[in-house]
Amino acid sequence: MTADRIVYTKPSITDLEVRYATDAAANGWGARCYDYIHQFEAAFHQHLGTRHALATSSCTGALHMGLAAMGIGPGDEIILADTNWIASAAPIVHLGATPVFVDILPDSWCLDPGKVEAAITIRTKAIIAVHLYGNLCEMDDLLAIGERHGIPVIEDAAEAIGSEYRGQRAGSMGLFGTFSFHGTKTMTTGEGGMLVTQDEELYERVLTLSNHGRARSQSKQFWPDMVGFKYKMSNIQAAIGCAQLERIEMLTSRKRAILASYRERLADLPGLALNPEPAGTVNGAWMPTVVFPEETNVTKSALLKAFGEADIDARVFFSPLSALSMFTDKPDNRISWSIHERAINLPSFHDISDADMDRVCRVVRSFM
Ligand SMILES: *Cc1c(COP(=O)(O)O)cnc(C)c1O
Repeated sequence: MTADRIVYTKPSITDLEVRYATDAAANGWGARCYDYIHQFEAAFHQHLGTRHALATSSCTGALHMGLAAMGIGPGDEIILADTNWIASAAPIVHLGATPVFVDILPDSWCLDPGKVEAAITIRTKAIIAVHLYGNLCEMDDLLAIGERHGIPVIEDAAEAIGSEYRGQRAGSMGLFGTFSFHGTKTMTTGEGGMLVTQDEELYERVLTLSNHGRARSQSKQFWPDMVGFKYKMSNIQAAIGCAQLERIEMLTSRKRAILASYRERLADLPGLALNPEPAGTVNGAWMPTVVFPEETNVTKSALLKAFGEADIDARVFFSPLSALSMFTDKPDNRISWSIHERAINLPSFHDISDADMDRVCRVVRSFM
């Protein structure tokens, strides 16, 4: 890596994160071993506007436990978009259920509600709405479909902290929502995640599952009531999370400013699409992304080569999950199967400079 290489992501860590983490490492033991965890959970559910939040070791773990708490198992089908990272699908497979991949909308790159409804069968047990790159799913439509068929909608909001849909924060609208604090995300704890919900019963079940199946009401020590999970966050990670959450407005507004800045720089290129922000929504802009028009005949490998030569980290747009060897090809998901060939995520770390963005935009322009 050279000195002027532009990385695509890097967290923003200040003295505050270092101070809290140091305090947790020095003092957060014994009677205080959960202090930052409880503080982080309380601050997070207040931020989201949900009743509950449970800190986890990852978003994947949060999804796994949430789906397990719903009783998802063999024979069940879960609908999600074909364009996704495998983390949203892996917990379904681990529980013995089947992910059903449906196509996305061309503008939001998220679930097409019409295709969701068409994919519902007697075995469908949940719809996972993943807010891709900060773009929002059509939540009103998805929730109405869920209501009509008696199927819960879950939100994987790992990429959508800072995104809002008609005044509600992403992650707060479904039966439960999940977040990731992996080092590439807008706010980080290194590795980490969160499950949020308004649902009292679901929360109690997840809480029990997360503690190796030991119910809060169980008075006997080391006496699990069921086989559970161990997907906990450490107090030191939670300390970093507390600091990041205090700075969340700054972290997300910077992401939004970077997306706006790319949009302005590339505004004169006809047909080039960036992350949309329809009326009534706020895009948290985790990952500014450009989709080239079909006429340009851009390919993934040509994009990778050009960005590589310009010493810029290029991050490819997610390939369809159905194209992976462990699933069945679904080329009829035409948008998912075509868009990834002509799209790329742009660098958007907190401290990226105007000059860096100019350099990135020169490469984007070279394809138009
Ligand atoms: C990052 C991400 C995950 C996985 O998060 P982990 O914390 O790494 O488990 C899940 N879903 C989506 C949409 C993501 O972007």
